[in-house]
Amino acid sequence: MTARSLSDVEYNYKLINERIAEAAQKVGKKREDITFLAATKTVEPEIINYAISLGLDHIGENKVQELISKYDKYDLQSCSLQFIGHLQTNKVRQIVDKVDLIQSVDSFKLASEISKQSLKHNKKTDILIEVNIGREENKSGVLPEQLDELLGQTAELEGVYVKGLMAIPPICENKHKISVFFNNMNKIFIDISQKKLDNINMTILSMGMSADYYEAILEGANMIRVGSSLFGARNYT
Ligand SMILES: *Cc1c(COP(=O)(O)O)cnc(C)c1O
Repeated sequence: MTARSLSDVEYNYKLINERIAEAAQKVGKKREDITFLAATKTVEPEIINYAISLGLDHIGENKVQELISKYDKYDLQSCSLQFIGHLQTNKVRQIVDKVDLIQSVDSFKLASEISKQSLKHNKKTDILIEVNIGREENKSGVLPEQLDELLGQTAELEGVYVKGLMAIPPICENKHKISVFFNNMNKIFIDISQKKLDNINMTILSMGMSADYYEAILEGANMIRVGSSLFGARNYT
């Protein structure tokens, strides 16, 4: 951890907050209406904690093993830890007592296991349902037309609470194209909110990453997940 990387993180953190505020204002929202979650994969806890000291209050990991190995080092008094990656059913029990929200639920089997493990800890875990909005073959998430059924089943589970939707649209060079995906997600989100389903709370719409969080906010996102724009390019070695 060099002084340079810390000052970069500070600079980036301020810049991202300014861009969030600007995008929010364009759609008649306030900065506080948008949750800035930092995607912390591959980032050392010291750097994550530095970002937390600047005011960052949501972080998300996307691998169980990595979350477990970093867990004792995070400074979580004022920060929510979430899970944002693909989650295997047999790994749920390793994280369910450690995270405030699991963003990537895309099957009843997974939701049931989260519920079961949560109840063992006398808790109810907040979850988002991940939607495969680009209908991509090898991508996680339910297809939009499967959403109603999954929501109906999940609403019956005592140990989970559906708080909204999450999506990772296809990579698009073209900002207009990506905005269409975000806009479709927002329509689905609003549509479900209006149905006022029992035990389903549509408060969080999590979409937008480093390349496109500004566009996502313009199309209705109220949570963005940003990694490399905050911490720099990831080094996977
Ligand atoms: C890594 C990751 C992000 C952030 O990606 P960047 O392009 O680095 O901002 C967002 N969401 C999920 C699920 C991720 O795994």
